[in-house]
Amino acid sequence: MVNKEREYSLIMVVWEITHKCNLMCKTCCSFSGKALRDELSHEECLKVLNQIIEAGVKMLFFSGGEPLLHEHIIEYTKKASEAGLRVSTATNGTIVTKGLIKKLKEAGMEEMHFSIDGPTAELNDEIRGKGTFRKVIKGIKIAKKEGMRVTMVSVITSLTKTSPVIEKLFELALKLEVNALSLERFIPTGRGAKNRYLALTKEQNKKILKLIYRNKKKLEGKLLISTGDPLKCLLDPDYPKSPYKSIYGGCGAGVTSLCITPTGDVTPCPVLMIKVGNVRKDNLKNLWLTSELFLKLRNRDNLKGKCRKCPKRNICGGCRGTAHNLRDDYLETDPMCWI
Ligand code: SF4
Ligand code: SF4
Repeated sequence: MVNKEREYSLIMVVWEITHKCNLMCKTCCSFSGKALRDELSHEECLKVLNQIIEAGVKMLFFSGGEPLLHEHIIEYTKKASEAGLRVSTATNGTIVTKGLIKKLKEAGMEEMHFSIDGPTAELNDEIRGKGTFRKVIKGIKIAKKEGMRVTMVSVITSLTKTSPVIEKLFELALKLEVNALSLERFIPTGRGAKNRYLALTKEQNKKILKLIYRNKKKLEGKLLISTGDPLKCLLDPDYPKSPYKSIYGGCGAGVTSLCITPTGDVTPCPVLMIKVGNVRKDNLKNLWLTSELFLKLRNRDNLKGKCRKCPKRNICGGCRGTAHNLRDDYLETDPMCWI
């Protein structure tokens, strides 16, 4: 008998390649700082890459910590891109140099996501540390000049939630000529859990999503505005309307993507840190196909509360990481849902 859940293919792996970071951002979903003692060795990382390739993964996204601080990032990029994967990376943008971008590009890095948590030095530096705004702007300019595709990523917090501030973010993205601007929900986990005052209410989150869709059309052709928030399905006019019988979109955790931590733990998402195994002893593809947690996430009839009965559940499903962190139950209703 064919197991329906096994038809789900693993599209993207988010690989937190090191815990090491030169910043201490208040919105960070991990406790990045020093490298962990038991991070995967170079040899182990090469084996993990083989597992990722063998699992048929389409996209590899490096995260961290600061992935550019990993001494083998260029080698791993090259190996993955030569195997046909689309490779991209997150970065805090503060240690970017022309030479590094050139090497990354030559190795096959297709896109870099630069974090900016506010449109001014005052707002951004309050979250990401003194002097970081100036450095990340410089980093973006270097990356653009070298022909790298650049996405500017902003986590929206209580400090940046107003329309004038968000509009300034649009202006900044246009001025820097980045390829895309991604506005993301703050999920209080990792270091972020100590900074809950930065979180938005569900009404404020709705207002931000409305702003995104009001400006998305207006800026079409000039700037691509996006969000990974599954609640976008309630406001995005281009989203499918049909009540799909199986999962068609929304939260990808365990459905289309998984996360590997610096020590090799496998979890559904960087904000849904429930371990299903470890690549040091488990095979990634096998975990993807058989883990009970992944199988549960692939059937939204398993959801609880409002999400369980919601006709939108197969195109949304709510952010399972937010439910896990705020409700202590990854299957519960997404606390940010306003319906
Ligand atoms: S109830 Fe759940 S599935 Fe429905 S829209 Fe809200 S978060 Fe999404
Ligand atoms: S758990 Fe939240 S952040 Fe992670 S994939 Fe789902 S919606 Fe996105």
